[in-house]
Amino acid sequence: MKGAGYILRKKASLTTEELEQINQYTRRPFQEGELYTFSVVLCDNEVDRDGERFTIEALHRLGELFLGKTGIFDHNPQVQNQAARIYACQVEQLPGRVTKTGEAYHRLVARAYLPRSQKNETFILELDSGIKKEVSVGCSVAKRSCSICGADRRTGGCDHVKGRTYHGVLCCTVLEEPTDAYEWSFVAVPAQREAGVIKNFSEKEDWNMEEVWKSLSGEGELLLNPEERRQLAKEFADLREQAACGRQYRKELEKSLVRLCGIVSPEVPMEVMERTARTMGLEDLREFEKAFHKRAEQVLPLTPQLAPMEKRDVEEYRDFQI
Ligand SMILES: [Zn+2]
Repeated sequence: MKGAGYILRKKASLTTEELEQINQYTRRPFQEGELYTFSVVLCDNEVDRDGERFTIEALHRLGELFLGKTGIFDHNPQVQNQAARIYACQVEQLPGRVTKTGEAYHRLVARAYLPRSQKNETFILELDSGIKKEVSVGCSVAKRSCSICGADRRTGGCDHVKGRTYHGVLCCTVLEEPTDAYEWSFVAVPAQREAGVIKNFSEKEDWNMEEVWKSLSGEGELLLNPEERRQLAKEFADLREQAACGRQYRKELEKSLVRLCGIVSPEVPMEVMERTARTMGLEDLREFEKAFHKRAEQVLPLTPQLAPMEKRDVEEYRDFQI
């Protein structure tokens, strides 16, 4: 048993090529409407919680080995539990992301299908709702070696300890030459840190800016697929637009304050008021603008003379006269 992955958001529609790939595994040709498909990250080249990592080459080989393999629930390989079958695999590099060992981050992404049947209804619902988001994979490798000296881990080999750093190099066990991929299964609990991270961003309904900001400010890892990057960019564009509106509002307040100051306190030089207004907080700006406006109304009515005054205004006006 090795590693753990997670389910990505499912794609909207199938290409003709994908339908052909799927129909290689079915007893009769299926139409798109009869199928439910989704993407799943099987494993990556990051150092896992056991202090082990696959080489990128091993990920490619695993991609071949996992083709046609069925995913099961809770590691129970009984036929009635078989749920989904992998019909395509691809190793993706996530631009800009590096692993703990300084390698470009790569992950093995599989596409899986299952027929839309009454038997699978609950399972599809769970996949859609994000309940069954994590998967665990099982495979065997021919070579397990020390990342520091290359010694064979199975024969003991060396004294290097996994997780320790030697001359700036993190010690881990390097997994190479996969010989068999025997299963992948859905698990209820994330078994790898990656799984928990993805959870926050992989489902549209889970999209939570708070989490994204937290990740951006350095707590935890942030891993985004193209769709999520697009959403984040849109969020930024929206915020930028709102910020522009806010700046415009502020500028108008400042201008109004300077103008009103010219009316109620003409002795204050305009540049001084301008400078002061620029340094004021928005709340203070609004308060001063309101107060100056009131004063200005008294000095020089800004609203038409014939405009009816509310009772409250009349009373305030009297107070001022006294
Ligand atoms: Zn070693």
